[in-house]
Amino acid sequence: MPEARRPVLSVEQALERILETVRVLKPERVPLLAATGRVLAETVAADRDIPPLDNSAMDGYAVRGADVEQADCPIRLRVVGEVAAGYVSAVQVTPGTAIRIMTGAPVPDGADTVVRFEDTRQDGDWVEVLVPYASGRNVRSAGEDVRAGQIVLKPGCVLRPQEIGMLAAVGRVEAMVIRRPRVAILATGDEVVPPGQPLGPGQIRDANSYTVAAQVQTFGGTPILLGVARDQEALVRQGMRDALDRGADLIITSGGVSVGDFDLVKQVLASEGEMHFWSLNMKPGRPLAFGAVDGIPLLGLPGNPVAAMLSTELFGRPAIFKMRGLTDWPHPTVRARLRQSIERKDGRRHYLRVRVYQTEAGYEAALTGDQGSGILNSLVEADGLAVIPGEADYLPVGAEVEVLLLPRTG
Ligand code: AMP
Ligand code: MG
Repeated sequence: MPEARRPVLSVEQALERILETVRVLKPERVPLLAATGRVLAETVAADRDIPPLDNSAMDGYAVRGADVEQADCPIRLRVVGEVAAGYVSAVQVTPGTAIRIMTGAPVPDGADTVVRFEDTRQDGDWVEVLVPYASGRNVRSAGEDVRAGQIVLKPGCVLRPQEIGMLAAVGRVEAMVIRRPRVAILATGDEVVPPGQPLGPGQIRDANSYTVAAQVQTFGGTPILLGVARDQEALVRQGMRDALDRGADLIITSGGVSVGDFDLVKQVLASEGEMHFWSLNMKPGRPLAFGAVDGIPLLGLPGNPVAAMLSTELFGRPAIFKMRGLTDWPHPTVRARLRQSIERKDGRRHYLRVRVYQTEAGYEAALTGDQGSGILNSLVEADGLAVIPGEADYLPVGAEVEVLLLPRTG
């Protein structure tokens, strides 16, 4: 299909069509620590009060407020017992007495206040309270964190460490969460060889499978590397079958979606399912294929490594986030001022590899070198992609642009 006859779409139009097709995956029950970062698919209520009983917020003495409120200090109380966290005192606090208590221990019957050690002096079986204390001080009441039956987490929430902790606190060992997308990745090209294998003349290593797989990991998907298919219809078709056999929720191919003589991915896709070939109004990454094979969405990336990564960032990322059950996926961005002037007169939106500097006056962005779509090294040097709008023919030094950040993970 000649490039000229492909529908020309903006990034936004392509993304909208992709997201219309992509569905949220089904939930599964997983152990707590496998749920980190996932989207909850159930309502979680507390099975009991947290904390379960009134307990001490300090190491000190459990006393009756009525005994320690008066200003006439020191106040002498007789120590009648001791209680540690995890134990319930068999002894009560009666007027004129105190029980040594440790943080987290249930407040004994009769007591309603805890005087911390620092405000006391011990004297054998007696303790002297050195300052007056308001009744109720240093006591955490039962259910002050969470009440029995209270809803603590709702469906759709992303489980961060604190939500995982809350699940544990309400007694859960498992949670219902949306499945992680399994993303099958297939490189194509007669010249493309997996790393670790000898290279013949004219051959290059498969960078795309690994870039894309690493992106999939950072987006919360599980990559499945299918290797490299030669530029033969039967082999590309076999790659797609493999993807389906391996239970892919999304298939990402690279290469072969352009207009060259051996760009076969599009033939195969067109015969395998519903498939669209778009010419995107952006650079790098003009050609893109999107459709479905046996109902499984497929994203056909261009082969140039920079274009492949950018397209995965712009289209694969939201698709994976939607599958994971997220409802928004803002890309981390900053506004930065250009350190170089930019001239681009083709009307396409350019994504330029930049390094972002934080200065006192705000962020600045400097190009990282050759912006050719095969120059992976300028992407290695970059920590952002400056978005140059299609209508901007010329941007002077200091012009402010949006920069999509490419943050470190972890
Ligand atoms: P294509 O889109 O198949 O025409 O490929 C465009 C360019 O990207 C060619 O120079 C390919 O050699 C290169 N390329 C394709 N696939 C890969 C890959 N998996 N890793 C690195 N470069 C690739
Ligand atoms: Mg190719």
